Amino acid sequence: MAESGTIHNSIVSLGGKPKIAYFSMEIGIDENIPSYSGGLGILSGDTIKSCADLNVPVVGITLLSENGYFYQKLDEFGNQIELPTKFSISNFLQELPSNTTVEIEGRDVKVRPWLYKYCGVCGYIVPVFFLDTNVAGNTDKDRQLTKYLYGGDEKYRLAQEIILGIGGVRILRDLGYTTIDKYHMNEGHAALGTLELYDQSNDVEKVRQQCVFTTHTPVAAGHDQFDLNMAKSMIGKILPEFILDDICFENRLNMTRLALFFSHYINGVAKKHGEVSRMMFPGYSIDSITNGVHSATWVCEPFQRLFDKHIPGWRSDPYSLRAASGMDKTEIWNAHMEAKRELINFINKQCNASMNYNDFTIGFARRQTAYKRPDLLISDPNRLMNIADKVGPIQIIYSGKAHPNDGGGKESIRNIFDAMKKIKGNIKMAYIQNYEMSIAKMMVSGVDLWLNTPRRPMEASGTSGMKAAHNGVPQFSTLDGWWIEGWIENITGWSIGSRKSNERESDDDADRRDLYNKLESWIMPKFYKDRDNWIRTMRSCIAINASFFNTNRMIQQYVLNAYFI
Ligand SMILES: *Cc1c(COP(=O)(O)O)cnc(C)c1O
Repeated sequence: MAESGTIHNSIVSLGGKPKIAYFSMEIGIDENIPSYSGGLGILSGDTIKSCADLNVPVVGITLLSENGYFYQKLDEFGNQIELPTKFSISNFLQELPSNTTVEIEGRDVKVRPWLYKYCGVCGYIVPVFFLDTNVAGNTDKDRQLTKYLYGGDEKYRLAQEIILGIGGVRILRDLGYTTIDKYHMNEGHAALGTLELYDQSNDVEKVRQQCVFTTHTPVAAGHDQFDLNMAKSMIGKILPEFILDDICFENRLNMTRLALFFSHYINGVAKKHGEVSRMMFPGYSIDSITNGVHSATWVCEPFQRLFDKHIPGWRSDPYSLRAASGMDKTEIWNAHMEAKRELINFINKQCNASMNYNDFTIGFARRQTAYKRPDLLISDPNRLMNIADKVGPIQIIYSGKAHPNDGGGKESIRNIFDAMKKIKGNIKMAYIQNYEMSIAKMMVSGVDLWLNTPRRPMEASGTSGMKAAHNGVPQFSTLDGWWIEGWIENITGWSIGSRKSNERESDDDADRRDLYNKLESWIMPKFYKDRDNWIRTMRSCIAINASFFNTNRMIQQYVLNAYFI
């Protein structure tokens, strides 16, 4: 322990004595570190940033994912080509010595932490540790385990979860973090950490007092599970027999159930998602804390200048963005047009799309997967062209990756490319390759309307619409996830499809009709013919939604409801 003692001192001087350890398979904290895939990772990064801004004593734990998720290329038909990404680790992270090992299939595997420091608005520093097994002394196979985010087979994934959960808890102890009293598992990937905590105390109630669990998906297949025999041989004796009945389902070890079993506080990520989770896991008390985004990260530069002028202090207190309701409409429009010109210039250079600054522009970007219905907007090209003829020009910008094994998501991308060819000449369309944070920021601030079309109730929260709201861009979305809470018709945006909260599932045809009707009769006429009221809507997106759907508000709820109870 003498060696870790010195590390301990330097780390404690970073930012007080951390009391909370925040575990996430992916943490998207810096747009130059590609070890995230999408919403979950961005949320984790935004959470860490708000903790730093608010001096919340937290430390982050994630995997290095040395080769990132993947770099997306698309051919002329919209076929996705997946290339590895590499980033220069030492540009961003500091290597720390470590003697920590975890047991995987009976082998001792060494785990090394890399330190990233995030500095908040007032100088408070939150450390984040990226775990790495590409260390001398490990077998070649074990050295690959922290290379690919969400890559490989079941065994590869389970090995990663052993490293993240068990390795994470051990690394913190070995680094000298003796003051941690809450372990927050952001999604079930880190659930095995509970076994290490139990191994330390042999006291289920004590582990429960230490653990907080946030679940992120209302889709059953989205919950990690592993064949029990395989899991037993991989995890070894640290997996106690007496909990198997509680955490297995159909002879599979279920990570969500493991996390539920050992946590005293459990939450979903929006009110509706809390409800759905309570139905999926009866017998557990499940609360909800609605997601947010880190305001200073997601507000584009022109709006940052505007907020700095009229709402000083908004970075450390985004609640004050409510004062946007008194801001001058011309100034808002000018800031928006500056962001829009930047996006359109980028699109025209990248995609040769010859888009115009003044035409109504719709954005859709996120993980491409069937339940999000990426192709709903272009599913009736004739109808869309007809609307453009009648009301005014339409431009559409798409972006987003499909998981390498998601055939349906990949098909959606091809459908979008097909539509693009069909409506060329009438509607300008572009698909930006390799969606990531900086493209997201340009898109959510540069389009006029942010579109989201998830099939209800499958979107746990969604956060890109909150980023759009921070830039005065209204959202047009099915009533699912956070939008049920953020939607005020014609004031913060518009709904698509049924407004009944108890309806079981979305009806594609009804949603498509409603989408086109509203574009034609409400949204586009307001944009083209009633600009003054359009800007009023933009303003209320900021005042009503950005002031609330931010990670500062969110983390204060975690502190009060989850960490200090
Ligand atoms: C915000 C963000 C997401 C999440 O988008 P949703 O529409 O909430 O699913 C995914 N990827 C990137 C790069 C993001 O910035």
